[in-house]
Amino acid sequence: MRKLLLNIFLSCLSFTAVSLQAQQENYALVGGLLIDGTGAQPVPNSIVLVNGDRIEAVGAIGRLPIPKGYRLVSTEGMTVLPGLWDPHVHLLYNGHPDFGHWFSTYSDRFGSTTMPASAEQFLMAGVTSVRDLAASTDDIALVRQRITAGDLAGPTIYASGAAIMLGDAPATMPHITPVATPSAAIRATRKLIDSGMDFIKVLGATEQSQEIMDAIVRTAHEGGVRVTAHGRLDEELRVALKAGVDEIQHIGIQTPSLPEDILDMVEERTKSGNPLYWNPTVGTILNADELAADPEWLDDPKNFVGLPADIEQDIRLAIASADFPVQPSGAADTIKRKLQNLGERGVIFTFGSDEGTFGLPASEATWRELEAWVFELGMEPLVALKWATADSAAYMGVADQVGTITPGKLADIIAVKGSPLRHFSTLREPVMVIRHGIRYK
Ligand SMILES: [Zn+2]
Repeated sequence: MRKLLLNIFLSCLSFTAVSLQAQQENYALVGGLLIDGTGAQPVPNSIVLVNGDRIEAVGAIGRLPIPKGYRLVSTEGMTVLPGLWDPHVHLLYNGHPDFGHWFSTYSDRFGSTTMPASAEQFLMAGVTSVRDLAASTDDIALVRQRITAGDLAGPTIYASGAAIMLGDAPATMPHITPVATPSAAIRATRKLIDSGMDFIKVLGATEQSQEIMDAIVRTAHEGGVRVTAHGRLDEELRVALKAGVDEIQHIGIQTPSLPEDILDMVEERTKSGNPLYWNPTVGTILNADELAADPEWLDDPKNFVGLPADIEQDIRLAIASADFPVQPSGAADTIKRKLQNLGERGVIFTFGSDEGTFGLPASEATWRELEAWVFELGMEPLVALKWATADSAAYMGVADQVGTITPGKLADIIAVKGSPLRHFSTLREPVMVIRHGIRYK
């Protein structure tokens, strides 16, 4: 019966695909400044030919002939670049300030409603690939399948499914699987791998949970899947590093600097030839004061695209009466110090915004995180764009398929007005979005 209902549900949804107005044709994108994502200098007056779902050729006006039958799309005055990646998102949230309320009210609508809305907002924001790091495994698998089938507009999704929580979690949280013993952890990890999840996400490590963390990492690696661990607290970091996780999430600001014993563990690890990746997600803290001073953009209708009226109304009212988080004093210095110390010890930083929570709607989170790296942390815009495209694709193991504007790769391409090398906020409103050769905007 459930299967039948699901089929009816899916076939109803297929009607909405018509309203997406997405069409697959062969395109010639002509005239814009090309930033191809490899870190190479931009190419003016570019031509990008898209044939089916692939990039066929890349060149410049006067040098690359445009074959007959290609739909000409002028990119004059624009910058053409690869679709952005956001490798730390939470599709199930839509920026509501109250977690408890969100989970107790909408858990049974995540898969059908809130996650598809976030997916559509991401795509319209020029984000063509995401990694979701905590969702009900069934929900994220369904949303991913609908996007792959063309029933739903959204980015390519890599996912952890339910995050494994070392300890107890309330029953109202479908995106978390609590485990209390190594054998339960092994079962949970195997189940996620069997469900086709791409990463294992772990939360809540404590000194007491070392054996459980070890079991998760061992099981995941045996299954050929990497492990990423929440790591704001020093205690979490010690357990995660000892277990040999592949990647850490977040930079904690509870302490002003990382203790030497942790930095020593990091250095020992990176010097061993086994890279340690770290996804700092610092925008939410670095942008906090700006958000508190000028939250008007949170009311932008694009943040509510895909949401039914009752949920939109609920979020709007909650935002209107919310207390905005303030940047704790010294937080920016703490972040800079920790990033520098980790970089000196050989850590490789991965990109990600932690989209979904308050102040991080899918339609805005990615470019705002990247902008914080450019303006607050001094990253070169060209480097930032490579990091959020080619480097992210390489980290996910699909650099041969996507991530740069290179002949033969999947056509995930966006265009923005003006140049993000000078005006980074041009990334805020892409005027063209193509994913796998289908033009959505
Ligand atoms: Zn997160």
